[in-house]
Amino acid sequence: MDEIRKIKHMLKAVPVLEGAGVHLKRVFGSREVPDLDPFLLLDDFHSRDPEKYIKGFPWHPHRGIETITYVLHGRVEHGDSMGNTGVIASGDVQWMTAGSGIVHQEMPKGDEDGLLWGVQLWANLPASHKMMPPRYREIKKEDIRDLVLENGVRVKLIAGRMNGVEGPVKDIVIDPQFLDVSLPARGVFDHGIPRGHKAFAYAIEGEGDFEPLARKTAGPETLVLFEDGERVNIAAKDKPLRFLLISGKPLNEPISWQGPIVMNTDEELETAFREYRNGTFLKHRGK
Ligand code: FE
Repeated sequence: MDEIRKIKHMLKAVPVLEGAGVHLKRVFGSREVPDLDPFLLLDDFHSRDPEKYIKGFPWHPHRGIETITYVLHGRVEHGDSMGNTGVIASGDVQWMTAGSGIVHQEMPKGDEDGLLWGVQLWANLPASHKMMPPRYREIKKEDIRDLVLENGVRVKLIAGRMNGVEGPVKDIVIDPQFLDVSLPARGVFDHGIPRGHKAFAYAIEGEGDFEPLARKTAGPETLVLFEDGERVNIAAKDKPLRFLLISGKPLNEPISWQGPIVMNTDEELETAFREYRNGTFLKHRGK
């Protein structure tokens, strides 16, 4: 029988202040390196109070990573050094590969009730791709396949392959799978994840057992990190459960990280900040 992954640990998200004063919950970040390799950070921004997010994330650089923004409610307006502007609306995903560098801003706006909710995941790039040309994948809600499985399980397939279907985000070095899974009350999701890939779950609504016979249920604002294995088996309690299930291939490379820039060595990090100060940071300007 395939080996079911056990829970390695569960971690409660912690409040942090980021950007120009955005209150968010950090699910994991630099203190967890290298536990989550190839993933670096997960932030959950969720508020009904515009004062808590409206100042947004004004112009800042990224290099050496990918940032993946998934908006659940409200929207995020963005603009960047390559001349791109746009809106990540409710249900949309922006998969941004910063590569050699972009300078951008991300400005959250609530829905008509002031509700803003989304997550931003950072994935690392290997040394061979840290200086690649920046690239965007803008995935609209309607481009995300909604797979309906047996037992009323629904899966929004954002990246990776499942049941012969490929998600809209392709050709990413870490071979990620990014799923938004909804289970009915007492529903079960049994799903294969390649051995050796790092995998974690993050509940959005409801509570569940993320390992058969788990001693503790997990709900929102809690990271569930899995041990290695071949599959996960996740069960809802007596209410529906919605969670993100994310996996990817570890890079096993040294990490030198400061703020929005993640490189392999301190020298590369110093170079990045020096270039940002003296105006030579952008290597690919685009249009
Ligand atoms: Fe950013």
